[in-house]
Amino acid sequence: MVKQTTLALLALAASISSHQANASYAKGNPLTYVDPSGKVAYVNVSGNNITIVLPIVFQGGTWDQQQAMAGAITDAWNGQFGQYNVQTTVVNGSTLTTPVNTIQIDPGQSDALGLSRVYGDAMSGKWFAKPTRTCGLDYAHEAGHLMGLGDHPGTNQIMDDITTTPTVTGDDITSIINSPVNIITHEH
Ligand SMILES: [Zn+2]
Repeated sequence: MVKQTTLALLALAASISSHQANASYAKGNPLTYVDPSGKVAYVNVSGNNITIVLPIVFQGGTWDQQQAMAGAITDAWNGQFGQYNVQTTVVNGSTLTTPVNTIQIDPGQSDALGLSRVYGDAMSGKWFAKPTRTCGLDYAHEAGHLMGLGDHPGTNQIMDDITTTPTVTGDDITSIINSPVNIITHEH
């Protein structure tokens, strides 16, 4: 079972266009990338080069809506943040045999009565198809929760829950690297 999960993840990683992520997951003992308890973001640390693979299973919604959500996440979480060069990919986690992030897509619009959210387990939630923030920042923000980050109100950065800017900080990346909800590997 564990080995199947590893192979599934490797297959996902191999399908990623980024050869950097591909190389990261091809190196070393692949069993070290397995998380039997179902932790949910895979982070490879190579100096200041950080590769994040975030598996998500979207339930409901259209293909276009799922793509828009994944695209908003990768738009925000790729780039130079502080000292870190970060490459983030969202992959379809449906073939993984361990629990992964599962997001239910609601066809409506997020509002005061029902904001897009990630639940306290940091691996499930409900996202609305029509975002309230520009450029789908709802989803980029919620992805931060999936990677173990809390809210940072009043900062107007990505983890401000009413953010209007996609600003990711080096501190956000440091927190992701240190979060117990993620699988961290170090490439030497
Ligand atoms: Zn939040």
